[in-house]
Amino acid sequence: MSPATGQPASDLSSTGSATAPYPHLFAPLDLGFTTLRNRVLMGSMHTGLEDRARDFPRLAAYFAERAEGGAGLIVTGGFAPNVVGWLKPFGGKLSWPWEVRPHRQVTRAVHQHGAKICLQLLHAGRYAYHPLSVAPSKLKAPINPFTPRALSARGVERQIAAYARAARHAREAGYDGVEVMGSEGYLINEFTAPRSNRRDDAWGGSADKRMRFAVEIVRRIREACGPDFIIVYRLSLVDLVEDGNQWDEIVQQAKAVEAAGATIINSGIGWHEARIPTIATSVPRAAWAGVTALLKPHVGVPVVATNRINMPDVAERILASGGADMVSLARPLLADPQWPAKARAGRPQAINTCIACNQACLDHVFQNKLATCLVNPRAAHETELNYLPAAAPKRIAVVGAGPAGLACATVAAQRGHAVVLFDAAGEIGGQFNVAKRIPGKEEFHETLRYFRHRLQETGVEQRLGTVADAAALAGFDEVVLATGVVPRKVDFPGADHPGVVGYLDVLQGRVRAADAVAIIGAGGIGFDVGEFVVQEGISPSLDIGRWMAEWGVDPQFQGRGALARPRPEPPARKVWLLQRSPGRPGSRLGKTTGWIHRATLKAKGVTMLGGVEYLGFDGAGLRIRIDGAEQLLPVATVVVCAGQEPRRELVASLQAAGIEPHLIGGADVAAELDAKRAIDQGSRLAARL
Ligand code: FAD
Ligand code: NAP
Ligand code: SF4
Repeated sequence: MSPATGQPASDLSSTGSATAPYPHLFAPLDLGFTTLRNRVLMGSMHTGLEDRARDFPRLAAYFAERAEGGAGLIVTGGFAPNVVGWLKPFGGKLSWPWEVRPHRQVTRAVHQHGAKICLQLLHAGRYAYHPLSVAPSKLKAPINPFTPRALSARGVERQIAAYARAARHAREAGYDGVEVMGSEGYLINEFTAPRSNRRDDAWGGSADKRMRFAVEIVRRIREACGPDFIIVYRLSLVDLVEDGNQWDEIVQQAKAVEAAGATIINSGIGWHEARIPTIATSVPRAAWAGVTALLKPHVGVPVVATNRINMPDVAERILASGGADMVSLARPLLADPQWPAKARAGRPQAINTCIACNQACLDHVFQNKLATCLVNPRAAHETELNYLPAAAPKRIAVVGAGPAGLACATVAAQRGHAVVLFDAAGEIGGQFNVAKRIPGKEEFHETLRYFRHRLQETGVEQRLGTVADAAALAGFDEVVLATGVVPRKVDFPGADHPGVVGYLDVLQGRVRAADAVAIIGAGGIGFDVGEFVVQEGISPSLDIGRWMAEWGVDPQFQGRGALARPRPEPPARKVWLLQRSPGRPGSRLGKTTGWIHRATLKAKGVTMLGGVEYLGFDGAGLRIRIDGAEQLLPVATVVVCAGQEPRRELVASLQAAGIEPHLIGGADVAAELDAKRAIDQGSRLAARL
């Protein structure tokens, strides 16, 4: 039984055959000396469990679930080949013989389930967050306060030797191979690009000399580990930074690493310092598959397409078109370890889809927290959060079918409880039904589709279009209130004018915003409303060509760094986004995605103001004061996005009837509520009931 899905694993994996719905995805891949069982590569994803040997049992459990779920080849999070290559002090590293042993539990756990596993070798170069960092040249990265030391020629040799030694240790630990991280702006990529390599010795200058470091590393690993060891080389196919590599140089690198002994070439997309989104939810699905397809005819080894491939039909299309030999899924396997097994069984509707929000995975990593997943709180918590069968089945009422209630109801029902789910609305989803309307948040539809399926699968009784009251909730063993929030009202002269509306009025289509709009409140919802009102018509996130034009990506990938002049489409309206707090609006948005929201609105000419006092609205304009100076914003619509309060009017009547309810999600605490907390809280409560 899979604790994540509650279904027998054999049930999911038994139907792979000639009639399988995704024949290219599930065709084995013969690498000559070994065969991968399918074309799913679990891409490298740092979880934080790699950094301490005592967390390796958890790491093994995490990978074992993904291997059991059917991944063909797993790549671990990054391990540095030496101390200077550490991503952060005391990060994961494999440089000494005594560091080998803990890895054996990981490789054993994966092999038991028929998957193969490669250890990723990642030397952070100038992205290292510590003072020992090294790089080809003494040039600080714009996203790191530490300035690296330029490597001497002997220092370069020492790094290469460290890679070969670490690969040998990986082999001793039972890994089937290594992935050499040559992209995303880390050390190897820094050598290959003129942006960060200003050397004039044998390791810099011409394109040939810049790529020599990469080629030597692959050659020496092959020499150290023998012919029957997988070497995946992650090649930066688009750097997306000024003075990045040019396409002919990238093709040259691909051919050279193949000649040096690489078994597979994986695609790397964009440096971390690039100002073009590469994996966020607003990036169209498979946006970068085209560049992998462009490389494929130039090499003989298998190539892997990557980024924003989150559903089997997308993966199958890429493979069937001949544009790649494998697909890399990193976050999608965090979201659902059973992704390959469900696809193979022809059950894509059962997949818990990664919505590319980054909120619980990458944002956590950047905050030095353990990564997990917004839609799957068990990710990287497999040893601690399990949905085991209930000792004594109960009758449970869950009020509210937003993310908190959906998670709670489905987990409780999976555990064997009899669950009734109430919602006043005629459809499940709560605020996700509003979020899915934001351009760039189309993926939120998938979470609703998943939960619709899951409710049926787990047998939750749904009472939609039903306002639950104390009478309806009598007789249950447990009552869970997941009733969400009510938008906060604002108070200034004219706040009751019909031109002052709530965000739900605009997002649910009850009010059409005027040509000039002020948004009060610049939290996540204020930004989303901004994106909603500046964009009319089909979202660029559904059209790769338009999206690339907006962000300035060369659709032919020929320019240096694959950059082109951004051509944002004109905004549908003039918008002012306001907040009372001083400082830059949007500074509290997600660590890895906030800059995207700010850049999107900036490109649409939105004026973002902090330190605002609201003086009044009279239909012709909003009067505000900033630093003592008054201004009139000539707007006819004011959209209030001033946060929310918990909705818990049911609590008192339940208590009066002798029922003590459990509160989750927004009904519990509205401040700083997001779906991550709602789903986590709902799932954890249901695991305890
Ligand atoms: P809700 O989603 O509010 O659901 C509560 C449900 O309870 C509703 O369906 C309501 O009808 C029902 N209900 C209330 N009272 C009763 C009753 N008496 N009887 C029956 N039913 C009742 N979060 C993120 O993490 N990432 C994002 O990118 C993101 N974007 C967002 C964008 C927008 C535009 C909006 C509006 C929200 C966004 N959120 C986002 C926030 C996220 O949607 C909420 O945090 C989450 O929905 C809260 O879940 P919940 O289950 O607590 O409540
Ligand atoms: P929020 O993040 O709390 O922002 C509320 C905004 O309203 C703030 O800018 C606040 O700033 C302002 N405000 C608060 N009280 C006010 C008042 N009385 N009068 C005028 N302005 C007031 O809430 P939200 O934007 O509604 O978002 C709700 C939750 O959904 C958030 O916690 C967020 O995590 C989640 N969400 C997340 C995303 C995402 O992309 N991750 C997107 C949307 C929503 P000032 O006090 O400075 O004016
Ligand atoms: Fe995907 Fe969001 Fe989960 Fe990360 S947190 S794996 S982006 S759904």
